[in-house]
Amino acid sequence: MNDESSPQCALCSVKDPACRVENGTGPESCPTKNYRETIEKALKEYDKLEIREFAKMASIQEAECYINRHIKPYVLHPVKPRVQEICEFANKMRYNKLGIAFCAGLHSEARTLTNILKAQGFQVVSVVCKTGCTSKESLGLKDEQKIRIGEFESMCSPIVQAALLNEERTDFNILVGLCVGHDSLFFKYSKAFTTVLISKDRVLAHNPAAALYTSGSYYARLLRQGIDTPQDKECT
Ligand code: SF4
Repeated sequence: MNDESSPQCALCSVKDPACRVENGTGPESCPTKNYRETIEKALKEYDKLEIREFAKMASIQEAECYINRHIKPYVLHPVKPRVQEICEFANKMRYNKLGIAFCAGLHSEARTLTNILKAQGFQVVSVVCKTGCTSKESLGLKDEQKIRIGEFESMCSPIVQAALLNEERTDFNILVGLCVGHDSLFFKYSKAFTTVLISKDRVLAHNPAAALYTSGSYYARLLRQGIDTPQDKECT
């Protein structure tokens, strides 16, 4: 496969897309049409009992986030915030012990989440990103690469968070505000399945989509090559 036929679903705008409509159409790059072998191979994963059950419950939960589904023609009517979706999904999976891996900057949100999960009958353990109080220098960072230059700064350690939740044998983990990259490490090292409640966005009150929604206006600079901010200039 060359680059032109690599999947570009985000740019697809066909009327009856092959991925949603039987005998539908797709552009030249359409993976539903071009990658049958890969798709068939990937689908075999759902034959594994644990994966099948997880995927099935996720899809049932997805549908149950809408009401009035019996009314035709159906107009989407979602009713559940994500935190409720997580509780209901965890109940469907008969999970009892939930782990929260959170960012120190969202301590209050993690506490509120703990209270909600406990109120819903779950056992909860939580681990902050700074656990271990390991210096950033141990990663090879120089002083000027820290947030508070000239001060001790403990590194975020998602691998430690995952190790502790693994040791606690949590059934399911929930991420609250881990940084980009730190979240990736947590996903890689967590033994239990993980979902995200909050994606950190320091500027947009943890609503990263807001920058996409305003990329035609206030965030138009994101569509130009090179992202320039005042802070970048001060640092150089
Ligand atoms: S799978 Fe094909 S039809 Fe569906 S969005 Fe991707 S390119 Fe379009």
